[in-house]
Amino acid sequence: MVKANAYGHGAVAISSYLEKEGIDWLGVALTEEAIELRQAGIKSPILCLGGFWQTAQAYDCFNYGLTPTVYRLDMVDTLASVAAITQQEIKFHLKIDTGMGRLGIAVKELSPLLARVADTPYLILDGVMTHLASADEPAKAEFTLQQLKLFQDCLASIKGAGFHPTYRHIANSPATCAWPAAHGNMVRVGGLLYGLWRDVTAPNANVPSLSPALSLYTRIILLKEVAAGMALGYGGTFSTSRKSLIATLPIGYRDGLRRNYSNVGQVLIRGQYAPIVGRVSMDLTLVDVTDVRGVALGDEVVLIGTSQARLIGAEDMAAWIDTISYEVTCALSERVPRFYLDTYSPRPVF
Ligand SMILES: *Cc1c(COP(=O)(O)O)cnc(C)c1O
Repeated sequence: MVKANAYGHGAVAISSYLEKEGIDWLGVALTEEAIELRQAGIKSPILCLGGFWQTAQAYDCFNYGLTPTVYRLDMVDTLASVAAITQQEIKFHLKIDTGMGRLGIAVKELSPLLARVADTPYLILDGVMTHLASADEPAKAEFTLQQLKLFQDCLASIKGAGFHPTYRHIANSPATCAWPAAHGNMVRVGGLLYGLWRDVTAPNANVPSLSPALSLYTRIILLKEVAAGMALGYGGTFSTSRKSLIATLPIGYRDGLRRNYSNVGQVLIRGQYAPIVGRVSMDLTLVDVTDVRGVALGDEVVLIGTSQARLIGAEDMAAWIDTISYEVTCALSERVPRFYLDTYSPRPVF
């Protein structure tokens, strides 16, 4: 899964890397995301989980060799209209709603849909999928089992109707770890690829040993001594209780450091924690470095990653503002430069 700019990691770079590693498929949400990958030279099959928007995007699927997900009856008609013009095969994956209540055809629509596909030349039902709502919650195992059972029943009906889709897939990251029965013959892992799992997999799940792929760094661009009783930043929401040393960082909510971190988050400098003080603004953030021994202008600041023996994970950042790690990395905007290293090179200094 490389949707949402590969969870903020950079879709083109990550996809090229995965392609070299021999991945079978890539998954995105939008045809636009897939086209960006094709234009960058990515050749692997790409599944568009969000299907297509209108006829123009159905043509995009044809023109760029993308595999759409179908989740409405009328989408079959749209694909049929494209196939009637191009006179070439179009493969698609069918998504069935087995209980999540989100994307997917209702189970009762399965027969009419299959009938329509059977009547349409060039359309090939090449994959069948569903999505689990609670694969990360052991307490909801019963519900997950129901979803799996319903999916098996649907597969049986599909076979009964004479279709033999190549792919059967169910599992996201939490299900890949916790539900081997959901593996089918393809898994749709996102978070696990990026080493994000601590807040998205079940506590009892069998997670392989993974470390996060992404770190986020900045540097101190101004170091300033301020008097006690000074109110800092927009609205003066933080007041110094003592004479303080305040560092300004060139990162703000435009970069993905959300405003919710105002007076909440922490960063690491020289292996020591420093709290974010005052409001995070568009381009700048303040941290209180009074207690950071040896702090100096230009020091590296770790927002996500390790500094000496200490770690701030994307999961930690997420917990501070009551979200999950995916939202933290997805939020990193294109203004943040990405540098890609292989595991064994020393980290360059910028
Ligand atoms: C995003 C997504 C996934 C990947 O989920 P992870 O938890 O990141 O592994 C899998 N399937 C569907 C349908 C998705 O939308």
